[in-house]
Amino acid sequence: MKPAALLISFCVYFNASAQMQRRPAFDKAIGSYELNFSKATRFNIVDGDSLLYIHVIGQGKVPVREGTDGRYVVDIVQPQATIEFLDDSNGKYSKFLWRQEQRDFTWTRAAADSTLQPDTASSPFAGKYELPGSALPIFIKQNAEGTLRSLVFGETPLIFKKHGDTAFEYRNRDFLVRLSFHDLKDGKYQKIDQKRSGFLEFVRLGTNDDDGYFKTIPNTKTGFSRTDSLQGMLTPLRTCYDVNYYNLDLTLNPSTRQLSGTNKIHFRVTEDFSRMQIDLVRNMKITAIKWKNRPLSWTRELNAVYINFPQPLKNGSLHEISIEYNGQPQPADLSTLSGGFLWMHDRNGNDWIEVVTQGTGASVWWPCKDHLSDEPDSMQINVTLPKALKNISNGRLRKQTPVGDTAIRSEWFVSYPINTYNVTLNIGDYQRLSDKHINGKDTLDLSFYYLPYNRRHADTLLAELKKMLKLNDRFSGPYPFKRDGLTVMEAPYPMEHQGAVSIGSINEPIFSSVTNIPALTTMVWHEVGHEWWGNSVSVSDNADIWFHEAFATYLEIMGHEAFKGRQAAIKKLYSDMPSNNEKMVGEYDVNHFKLNSVYTKGAWMLHTLRSIVDNDSSFFGLLRGIQQEYGLKTINSDTIINYVGRYTSKPLRPFFEQYLYHAAIPKLEMKMDTSANGNVLLYRWKTDVTNFWMPVRLLLPGNRSLDIVGTNTWNKTNIGNIRLDEIKLDKDSFYVE
Ligand SMILES: [Zn+2]
Repeated sequence: MKPAALLISFCVYFNASAQMQRRPAFDKAIGSYELNFSKATRFNIVDGDSLLYIHVIGQGKVPVREGTDGRYVVDIVQPQATIEFLDDSNGKYSKFLWRQEQRDFTWTRAAADSTLQPDTASSPFAGKYELPGSALPIFIKQNAEGTLRSLVFGETPLIFKKHGDTAFEYRNRDFLVRLSFHDLKDGKYQKIDQKRSGFLEFVRLGTNDDDGYFKTIPNTKTGFSRTDSLQGMLTPLRTCYDVNYYNLDLTLNPSTRQLSGTNKIHFRVTEDFSRMQIDLVRNMKITAIKWKNRPLSWTRELNAVYINFPQPLKNGSLHEISIEYNGQPQPADLSTLSGGFLWMHDRNGNDWIEVVTQGTGASVWWPCKDHLSDEPDSMQINVTLPKALKNISNGRLRKQTPVGDTAIRSEWFVSYPINTYNVTLNIGDYQRLSDKHINGKDTLDLSFYYLPYNRRHADTLLAELKKMLKLNDRFSGPYPFKRDGLTVMEAPYPMEHQGAVSIGSINEPIFSSVTNIPALTTMVWHEVGHEWWGNSVSVSDNADIWFHEAFATYLEIMGHEAFKGRQAAIKKLYSDMPSNNEKMVGEYDVNHFKLNSVYTKGAWMLHTLRSIVDNDSSFFGLLRGIQQEYGLKTINSDTIINYVGRYTSKPLRPFFEQYLYHAAIPKLEMKMDTSANGNVLLYRWKTDVTNFWMPVRLLLPGNRSLDIVGTNTWNKTNIGNIRLDEIKLDKDSFYVE
């Protein structure tokens, strides 16, 4: 996973930061609201730090202050907006009005682009128009009955009615959008003036608190809650069974964003029990849970589901339960790394949807044991969609069958263990390139999925993927999921979904034609690298997520080094320096997912380890050794620390403990003893941990260097006729002070 840029939203644009205001009694307002005519615009009203916040999905959180007349003011949006909450007859506000001075826009017909779907519409109105300066597109289609369908990129389509010869209007309560077409040329209008007026009405999602629930990832700033330990802790209700197989069968309707389905969970009992916990966020409804075709009873606590059996299940026995459920899964919010569905559009205006749930957890859209320690041995993912849409999930496509006249069902099978957060849907107008990666006697099937207008870039990136795989055989060993083949694709957000790896959008911004191949090549290294580092060898608690990100990021560096040389790789390391204001390892048992420094500091730590090992074939052997020993298994920080200690026969535990469990990096203290015959350099490591041991290289005048081994106590070496200020640390090789 890689943090990405923010996307756009329907009606609000943020700037600057705001003055904080004290929080009045806001309980009635808290909840999730959707624009009454567009599911694409969702606001969560939340409280925190004694303030009321409006969390705009995709854009982040801003405070709201109390104004006059019972209205609230959102200063940070441009232009300033006011909110008026209405109808609290049930103890909670059921809606609010959003008033904001509306901007006028002029859209300009997009220049013809031979890579996009040709404009064959006979209507003078239809076509793709852009906002100059941003290239943000609006797609206009003419319907048979004379209405227009407009789709602004990333939003919900609106139907406009004719209002005069060249004008169309969309009206919803007080809200009015008017499109006036002008500049007719060769039978096509070239410009649209857009005027908007009136207020927007936002409606509370559902009738109770659970319906509007939005799951965010926990962080140390807001503290951990019962929700976090229910997900993050392995209690007897979860350790009493081991999942063997998930059989997930879903129907998704993108226009209503509703999902319904069944997950069959096959498990082995590891301790007698009559009650078990599974996980599903509380805004998703469960309609039945069955065992041996009999209904089971269940209760829910926050996002945990406790299932009761009529008799104890015996240790060692195998069972299947099925959970039927439905709901509107939450949208992903990239601004807060909250997982869910990304409902996007491609440059032709077609649906482009991706599910990303790392950190937040798969239980935002399907019921499972949502803990990293328990991966199923295999998994089936069946998805039924409207006929025009194509879905790519993990593993291999086994079957694709029409369902009636209007739907299509795709059946995917993963024949290896898989982290629940790696399970994904990628829905779009995908095209496929196929190829093979040959390593000795092994042949790996490759697929690269791309959107039709990116064929040329797809060819380039597939070639980069093959180069990466060839080199990575040496760095990480053979591809871990060979039976399933390797699928890489462009999708809105870069994420290492197992066997369905997304390198992000080929275009950035995603509605533009701009492409940065070097950045995407880095993404290939990073996200595909996670197949080894994260997907095959996986941590069993998010607290140890550094292991996934440090290795994937260092693979980027090694790839860079292989093609561009060591100096370029070092430069890349320096281009993104860690802040060292917190430790890399998070809190255990609370699903603590934080990314911050784990990329850069993690990569620097591994780079330093490589310098300590001081022999590349030994270092790469270490990497391949970890893969060989722990492939398709879960590990924790200790597993790796112990393995490296055994492999290198060096006392490296304090080294890892300093980098992982403390914010500060090792600092070398040096002083000169000039009283002796010739200069004697005294040195020791200053660290938070004790018994620290680490070699380091000193750079001396005249291009000389000196390798020393330091501990927490003073060591000395005869250094000859050199002043202290002439001695430098080799910081290109060792991340120390
Ligand atoms: Zn990553």
